[in-house]
Amino acid sequence: SDHQLEYPMSPEDMDWTPFFPAYKTDPEELPEATASNDAQIEQRQQSSMRQDVEILDIGCGFGGLLVALAPKLPDKLVLGMEIRTQVTEFVQERIRSLRAQHQDSNEFQNVSCIRANTMKFLPNFFKKGQLSKIFICFPDPHFKARKHKARIVSTTLNSEYALVLRPGGIVYTITDVEDLHNWMVHHLELHPAFERVSEGEQESDECVKIMTTETEEGKKVERNKGQKFVALFRRLEDPPW
Ligand code: SAM
Repeated sequence: SDHQLEYPMSPEDMDWTPFFPAYKTDPEELPEATASNDAQIEQRQQSSMRQDVEILDIGCGFGGLLVALAPKLPDKLVLGMEIRTQVTEFVQERIRSLRAQHQDSNEFQNVSCIRANTMKFLPNFFKKGQLSKIFICFPDPHFKARKHKARIVSTTLNSEYALVLRPGGIVYTITDVEDLHNWMVHHLELHPAFERVSEGEQESDECVKIMTTETEEGKKVERNKGQKFVALFRRLEDPPW
């Protein structure tokens, strides 16, 4: 259950500095406090970041994708969201120790993990158009029809993904469950804000290779000689009307 989970009131209220301490704005760069600054503005300045999160891994599990992506996208902030407390703590510890091992190169400062239910309040965390990539890797299949509403791809959630993704941004999906693959393709194809990415473009995308081989669930599927179904969707420009 997730009733103890805390959500920011809005993206402006989210303090990312504990997650990405190396990206905290240097106090010298902040505008001078003026008499008109109220406490809230001051607090936001204290927690201001040089850069926003741009890459999101939904249901990141043990973080295999995160730690593989971060060094490949060194100028982007990569975030995993995971609902299980212990799994989130495991990933946070994994990142802490990678940061410590790579202190000289500053690698892994650009990756972090937060405990959250991504089916709730995603737009409270991210501004409209903030993200360029959302990964949905091996989501729980929820086989039974009455559980389908628990699936992480649905008409309602796709509208939230469309909101936080910038035009041209990509939703990456992968699963070993063919029925779930068809479900995700169907719901994303139906959505007016998305178009499917061609197979050629999909194959040349380095992130597809990484998401196919680097997640813990993907490795398990590999060991069991299972199939993997991939589909990518591009966030379209907002229509002019
Ligand atoms: N993506 C990882 C991988 O490929 O190895 C993990 C896949 S695992 C089958 C699905 C993960 O999604 C689990 O770790 C689960 O706790 C997480 N999850 C399920 N529902 C979620 C939600 N609403 N918000 C955040 N995480 C969720």
